[in-house]
Amino acid sequence: MQIAFIGLGNMGAPMAINLHKAGHSVKAFDLSADALAKVKAEGLQVATSAQDAVQGAEAIVTMLPASQHVEGLFLGSGNLLASIAKGALVIDSSTIAAATSQKVAKAAEAAGIDFIDAPVSGGTGGAIAGTLTFMVGGTDAQLQRARPLLEKMGANIFHAGAVGAGQTAKICNNMLLGILMVGTSEAIALGVANGLDPKVLSEIMRRSSGGNWALEKYNPFPGVHENAPASKGYAGGFGTDLMLKDLGLAQENAITTKASTPLGGMARAIYAAHSIAGHGGEDFSSVIKMLQKKG
Ligand code: NAD
Repeated sequence: MQIAFIGLGNMGAPMAINLHKAGHSVKAFDLSADALAKVKAEGLQVATSAQDAVQGAEAIVTMLPASQHVEGLFLGSGNLLASIAKGALVIDSSTIAAATSQKVAKAAEAAGIDFIDAPVSGGTGGAIAGTLTFMVGGTDAQLQRARPLLEKMGANIFHAGAVGAGQTAKICNNMLLGILMVGTSEAIALGVANGLDPKVLSEIMRRSSGGNWALEKYNPFPGVHENAPASKGYAGGFGTDLMLKDLGLAQENAITTKASTPLGGMARAIYAAHSIAGHGGEDFSSVIKMLQKKG
């Protein structure tokens, strides 16, 4: 299948590479020349613009930072929808506001294009391994069209509901992830302040009632998990500012629905302070720095 892939960051690049490895013809585009060079080295075709990427594409996958990037790409001055062939399928895997997914999907429908939201979970490790979890919003028929491509990038595919529902599931998950990373960091920092070995303590908690995904795969303390961002100077991974965006989306949603999400609100405030302190570009597990004893 001819596929356009737009947004080749920490997540998009490995996802595009997996589609290429599965035998699809992938034409990739990103605003960053470095990102383009990286996928070109893996054998993908690179486009000169988003318009160029979508020429003749039967499916378009987007993996962009936030709502404004997705809305700007499809509905902004470039009017990308006008360059996409009628009958094509757009899979947006970015984490954005459900309302933005619905707005773009409506415009796509008017242009005869299928648009689904399919945000992911599983981190950069899951993107590289092709084991992501997809949370899809769209019709049964649209998901059926997307499934063969999603299966090349992920291991779990859930149909959350109509368009936008994937985004709602995703912000619920990420609100929980943001909270549990702060809680895990607090517990490790407390143990270390008492002289405990972070590796030993993490293993005790992992196998006890505090066990969670961060302790399994993404320990915030450097050196506990060799491949976690914490052991690589908090480079790559999932940026603090992206987590802050997701916690903001959860809070906006909670205000609209009058839901009570006190820990989600507190977690947002903690990541905001961490971002202001200069850590917005680091992986979100660097939030442990806020909680560690200095000196
Ligand atoms: P990233 O910042 O590493 O990559 C985003 C890429 O999009 C960049 O390379 C940027 O140059 C490109 N871009 C921005 N605007 C563009 C445009 N108009 N045209 C072409 N390219 C454009 O972000 P990421 O970590 O890959 O995350 C992407 C999305 O996936 C976000 O919504 C994030 O919340 C979500 N997500 C990330 C992770 C993770 O672990 N990193 C996990 C799950 C979901």
